[in-house]
Order: sequence, then C-alpha cells, then structure tokens
Amino acid sequence: MTLSRRISHLTGDGSDGWDLFYRARRMVAAGVPVVELTIGEHDIRTDPEILSAMDRAARGGHTGYAMVPGTGGLRDTIAARITERTGVATTRDNILITPGGQSALFSAHHAVCDEGDVALYCDPYYATYPGTLRAVGAVPRAIVTRPETGFQPTAADLGQIPQGARSLLINTPNNPSGVVYSKQTLEAVAACCRDHDLWLISDEVYDTQVWDGAHLSPRTLPGMAERTLVIGSMSKSHAMTGSRVGWIAGPEAAIARLIELATHTTYGVPGYIQDAAEFALNAGPALEDRVAAPFKRRRDLALKLLAGQDVVHPVPPSGAMYLMLDIRATGLSGTAFADALLTDRNIAVMPGESFGTAAAGHVRVAMTVDDDLFATALKTLLEFAKERSI
Ligand code: PLP
Repeated sequence: MTLSRRISHLTGDGSDGWDLFYRARRMVAAGVPVVELTIGEHDIRTDPEILSAMDRAARGGHTGYAMVPGTGGLRDTIAARITERTGVATTRDNILITPGGQSALFSAHHAVCDEGDVALYCDPYYATYPGTLRAVGAVPRAIVTRPETGFQPTAADLGQIPQGARSLLINTPNNPSGVVYSKQTLEAVAACCRDHDLWLISDEVYDTQVWDGAHLSPRTLPGMAERTLVIGSMSKSHAMTGSRVGWIAGPEAAIARLIELATHTTYGVPGYIQDAAEFALNAGPALEDRVAAPFKRRRDLALKLLAGQDVVHPVPPSGAMYLMLDIRATGLSGTAFADALLTDRNIAVMPGESFGTAAAGHVRVAMTVDDDLFATALKTLLEFAKERSI
C-alpha cells in the first residue's frame, strides 16, 4: 500500500539534519563517554514544585478529558501574561493551548496555508520547520540570512517575496543562532507582512532567555495583531520539555477555527499538565530566571574562553540556549568539523548545515551541560580547531 505523498516527503527526500545527533547517541549506547552538546534539552529537570502541582492536580481528579481549547485558568494566565508583557490586550479567546510549541507551529500553518501555498521561513532555522510546512501541504521557501548581517533578515532580504506566499515564520530569540532580532528587523518583517498581505507566525519559545537587548513581540507592531499567530511553550522557559504544553496567541476568529482543528486532532492537553503550567506561570519570574541563568552564565564563560584568538568566532549570542561558532578559518564545513570533533574528541555539536544553508561553516553548541564540563569541552574544541587550521 502506498502512503500519501505528503507524509512520504516530509523531510524533503534528504536527511532530517540530525545524523550527527543519532551517531552520538549510538556511541553513548555503546559506552563511549561523549559530551553531548546537541539538542535543546536543559541539564536540570522540571522544578519539584511544578511536579507537586501536577501531582496535586492529577490526584485531585483532573485526569479526564480536559476542555479542548485549554482550561480557563491557563488561558487566562497566559492572556494576562501577554497583555502585561506586550501591552496588547489579550483575553482567553485569543489563546489556544496546544501539546507544545511544535504542535502549535503545525496548527498555526494549517490555519493559514492552503495546499500549494508558499510558506516562508528564515534560514538558519529550527530543524523541523520545513517538514512542518510540508506537513500542512505548503511549499516551504527559505529567506536566507547572512553572517555579515548578524543572521537577521534585512529589508532587502524581505523584499524578494515570491508569488503565492501566504505566511512568514520567524523565530526570535533564534535557534540555532542565539540572535535576538532588533526592533529594526522586526519593523522590516512587519512591513513585509503588511505589504504582501502575509500572516506572520512568530515563534517566541525562547522569550524568557534574553541576555542582551530585549525581546520584542512583533504582534505589538502597528497592524500586526490581526495577522500574527504567536507560538509559545513551557518547554524552554520552565524546563518542561516532556510535559508537551504550549500555546498559540492570535486573533479571536483564527483561534475559534484552531479550536475546531484541535477538536479533530489532539483533543486538547491533559488537565493536570495544564494545572502544573498555570502554577508555574503564576510562580513568577524567579522560577523562569532560575531556569535561564545557567545559559547566560555559560554564554559569558564561553565568550571569555574564546577571546583573544582568531580561529573560532562566536556569533554574539544574545539569547536562547545555544552558541553558534564560525569555524570557517579551519577550512572545514560545519558537517566535516562536527564529524571529526566527534570521532577524534568525543564531543558532539551540531553542524550549522543542519539548520539550512546560511550557517554553513558554523557549528551550534547547546550550552546544556554543567559549567565545568562545558568549559573543558569548549577548550578541547578550540584546541582541535587550532590544530585543523594549521
Ligand atoms: N521552536 C523552536 C525554535 C524550538 O527550538 C523548539 C524546540 O527545540 C520548538 C519550537 C518546539 O518546542 P516544544 O514543542 O517543546 O514546545
């Protein structure tokens, strides 16, 4: 029996970009002591207080079908948080709770793209993006940013919008680059969406991890609330990756349709998980700061360690849990560098090429091991790069 073309070509007939990660995992399974700096998974677990809230909710009986759009309490909490942080009046009718940000990305594109519509996204990108766009029947098309412009799309980059484009997906703070889009960049993005009548899908799952500057949600910009779907998640902000809880914030009419989609797909998110998320969001900024602090600390550590040499150039990381390193001085591609580093030194980092074409000649380092191990691994990476560049 044949499967649909849509599901058979989700990864575009090529690799899904995770080959190095799988190889590292095979080495670990075979007993090799690999330092894994690959995926965006915290080195701490979900806070015990959040787990207690989850336990209380489950034992209190919140284990049946939950309301499909999300519990009133969680929707209200997220709406109030967005109103307070952005100034854009937001109510529970603007919020759909989803099983994580990934599901929110899929649903948001499902809501705005018809079969064959062009869905734009910025390169470098979070590795699932093109497959997510294909999964809804859209045609993914990258807007390639450049190292010289700090991996931020410029007005010129955004000027080349193809016929049939319906949506533009951006991600700030950015995975993989750690770049936080400037106000100027976001104004150019907003102008592009207004001029070309595009929906903006704004992936803001790292919005609590900003080290330089400030996070600006483009939904706040003139004329954007009516054409923006914001993707949020508890995964990164509260170390709740496995709990699978996120949201879409957008215009009421779009959320009403998205609730119908949820009724016919996920049928909502478990009630005890939502209660735990509500508890976590109401616990205030101290908890979020505690989750974010190690990444800022390790970023500072890395910048100090990498200062005063000319082989490995960090892309100044302003947010998120990653550090992107320009290793072009070694003469190697990101893929060759990451492969050799894993083979020779048992350190696993992701090739920039896994995240599109813009970050070729770079590697992405997830800052997700304890400080000492992180510092030792970076020093080894640097030695290795110096040897290769001779
Ligand atoms: N968006 C970005 C940019 C990500 O990096 C990730 C996960 O790494 C997600 C969305 C999806 O996160 P989740 O589904 O865990 O909320």
